[in-house]
Amino acid sequence: MAKKKTKKKSTKRSTKTGPAKAEPAARRRAKRIYDKLVELYPDAHCALDHKNAFELIIATILSAQCTDVRVNMVTPDLFKRYPDAHALAKAKQADVEDLVRTTGFFRNKAKSLLGASRRMVEHHGGEVPDTMDELTALPGVARKTANVVLGNAFGKNVGVVVDTHVGRLSRRLGLTEQTDPVKVEQDLMALLPRDTWTMLSHLLIYHGRQVCAARNPKCDDCALARSCPKVGVDGAE
Ligand code: SF4
Repeated sequence: MAKKKTKKKSTKRSTKTGPAKAEPAARRRAKRIYDKLVELYPDAHCALDHKNAFELIIATILSAQCTDVRVNMVTPDLFKRYPDAHALAKAKQADVEDLVRTTGFFRNKAKSLLGASRRMVEHHGGEVPDTMDELTALPGVARKTANVVLGNAFGKNVGVVVDTHVGRLSRRLGLTEQTDPVKVEQDLMALLPRDTWTMLSHLLIYHGRQVCAARNPKCDDCALARSCPKVGVDGAE
């Protein structure tokens, strides 16, 4: 008897990032947490000072492994000297290194700033592109930076910015069990509606800075304590 062919299951993992389905109860719970955060931080916004998309992408590249406060100290001089991609594309690496030195990893960052600016000049007429694929094709720009720019400069909710605060808070609040930022992002996108994604990361960052620090979170003073599996009573629903 001829053997029945069985279809081999693909072991290849999808590289696509997009919202999967989350349980309705988990979505309701996530929305309650989101609404509470909006109540707590109605003015939450991007902490990197910027006047346009160019300034935001440059500031975001500089913010890797560096505080936003430090980046905001460096960018005024940088933008005064190089106000747009055309100007920065023509800059000398050593001059840019001097200006961004205090943000750490300054050689690599200067290289990324120049590379990104040159590509913007060569491929986008000196403008910052507004799609994930075009942004992540710029040197020094990965998904997180692209999400910052898309959400805050172009008002496009393409994903959720997952930095150290967002990752930590999401795990503590039971919104994900993942540690890989891309997987954390997928879980958050599955839990909350698209129009909340940019604000969600601002809110989690605010709460992480003000209440739920990495060490010694102030659980006794936390308005989310009831919903937090760490201490709460309704963490499961
Ligand atoms: S209860 Fe504690 S761990 Fe949970 S979100 Fe609040 S501060 Fe963070």
